[in-house]
Amino acid sequence: MYLTRLLYVSDYNRDKPFDAGQMLKSAIAKNRANQITGALWFDGRQFIQVLEGARDVVSETYHRIAQDERHNNIELVCCNSVTERFFPQWSMGYFGDTLSNQQMILRYSTSDKLNPNEMSPDSLLGLMMTLELKNME
Ligand code: FAD
Repeated sequence: MYLTRLLYVSDYNRDKPFDAGQMLKSAIAKNRANQITGALWFDGRQFIQVLEGARDVVSETYHRIAQDERHNNIELVCCNSVTERFFPQWSMGYFGDTLSNQQMILRYSTSDKLNPNEMSPDSLLGLMMTLELKNME
């Protein structure tokens, strides 16, 4: 099964509580068992997530995540076969809304306000690869 990378964006559904630490703990355990790697951005308003792994497992994981009521307006940005992982050491790295991360937004966007819907797949992936990851394991 080919190595695949998927990127999606969504809005946080404010009607549902979201505890990043708790969610990541269970996501990391599931991802490790499935040999999924990747990274998640959450700034209190939006999620951006990259999933990497075998195509069937990435697809199953994305469909499970897409059913999760903690999202609204989930949008698949890209899903491609790739030659290597960008986050091989992260079962799910986490980006918080830190000042240094905010400053990186301008590098990949037309403004320093994050608006994933106005960013190309390459810019979103570039942003995710440059941000400062926090280990939640
Ligand atoms: P169950 O555990 O039976 O849960 C059923 C439903 O209950 C879920 O769909 C969800 O809507 C809701 N739910 C579950 N836990 C909570 C909670 N603590 N608070 C509020 N509602 C809850 N899973 C992965 O395996 N890998 C990932 O990389 C991953 N990334 C995620 C990123 C985001 C932004 C979010 C919101 C979720 C992510 N999840 C991830 C979790 C995933 O969406 C599922 O909730 C999880 O995999 C459990 O699925 P399940 O079918 O066993 O559902």
